[in-house]
Amino acid sequence: MLHSLQALDRAHHLHPFTDFKALGEEGSRVIERAEGVYIYDAEGNRILDGMAGLWCVNLGYGREELVEAATEQMRQLPFYNTFFKTTHPPVVKLAAKLCSLAPANLNHVFFTGSGSEANDTVLRMVRRYWVVKGKPEKQWVIGRENGYHGSTVAGLSLGGMAPMHDQGGPRVPGITHVRQPYWFGEGRVGEERQDPEAFGRQCAAAIEERILELGEDKVAAFIAEPVQGAGGAIIPPESYWPAVKAVLAKYDILLVVDEVICGFGRLGEWFGSVHYDLAPDLMPIAKGLSSGYLPIGGVLVGDRIADTLIEEGGEFFHGFTYSGHPVCAAVALRNLEIMEAEGVVERVRDELGPYLARRWATLTDHPLVGEARSLGLMAALELIDPASGERFDEALTAGNLCRDISFRRGLVMRSVGDTMIISPPLVISHEQIDDLVSLAREALDETARCLAP
Ligand code: PLP
Repeated sequence: MLHSLQALDRAHHLHPFTDFKALGEEGSRVIERAEGVYIYDAEGNRILDGMAGLWCVNLGYGREELVEAATEQMRQLPFYNTFFKTTHPPVVKLAAKLCSLAPANLNHVFFTGSGSEANDTVLRMVRRYWVVKGKPEKQWVIGRENGYHGSTVAGLSLGGMAPMHDQGGPRVPGITHVRQPYWFGEGRVGEERQDPEAFGRQCAAAIEERILELGEDKVAAFIAEPVQGAGGAIIPPESYWPAVKAVLAKYDILLVVDEVICGFGRLGEWFGSVHYDLAPDLMPIAKGLSSGYLPIGGVLVGDRIADTLIEEGGEFFHGFTYSGHPVCAAVALRNLEIMEAEGVVERVRDELGPYLARRWATLTDHPLVGEARSLGLMAALELIDPASGERFDEALTAGNLCRDISFRRGLVMRSVGDTMIISPPLVISHEQIDDLVSLAREALDETARCLAP
């Protein structure tokens, strides 16, 4: 029997990324409240949120300071736009704070309402930049298979998610995708089982091959996440990013590093770009910027692009009603101030990340686990069939089974195919990490029992 709220939900609410027919009699899960690292459903069950909402509630739930920041700002100035030469205090302070935290070459911000809008903005800025520079032939953008850059038409076109590409209608032209540095999925398999570092270099070489196919002077930018999140928490081999940087420098191609997931402490630095020593030309951000409390995104813009667009570009005909929304900006600013004051990022780097890595690695003794990897507070498990040591038959949807079992047992894990992912709030304690790992093991045990022949 569906709860009355579930019945109403079923009747009127079209959810993102949901197959409605497949929801069946079960209906949607109703989440009513949250505190710290836990969410609570309508039956009062407490569930450890191993995904920080959607990779975003970095400070955890129930932070009164963020509620106060929103309330104060709503009283003071609930809305004003930032178009046509107007500004307001929270947006200015947030822009300055972001530039102080970002890699040194990033000194300007363009605000948006979401990560998808940030990537639309990226595409427009990249193409505008080369036109202003007198090189309009540089128009191609190279992304990666399985990369995720949002759900708007530009976002899904920059991304490399085949199911999103295949749902009908043309995508934005001039965007192509190269292979992802996914060693477990692509480097480890088959005859040519490769050394991970050689595989990383080969994935970077694939970018150069594509550049040469398109034409040396035709490529405007390369876009990638430092660690591919929604594609499966794909941590690249150490050889990958230095080799990519060298290729881009050789052909004067802009680097866009999508920090929507990796930014704001997830990998143990303020930005994934710091971890991998990247100096992006453009850096889209969102999610953890406000710990998900209010929707806000943006693009940090490198000096090379900002100087050109400001000095030579004229008016940039682009912007959103909610670019730099004052209440969202005030909450984001307070969020960053709290993260700084509490040393949240350093704690992920020095304590929690290494602790999770040690505890997560203990799961490799489980017969269903082919690999356990983590960086900062993002981690993945690769499920394998113990009988063959290879992937399960896709029809078994082992990952979704494990995800649903895990939720019932009190832990939110995400599945991408047969890759299980966690990305918990950055304020998780050592004891809560222990619980998380125990719950993941219980979920694996039950999944193994369900899949046993
Ligand atoms: N970029 C990355 C790397 C993401 O993971 C996401 C969302 O998950 C986006 C962009 C899109 O952000 P939004 O959902 O806020 O539009």
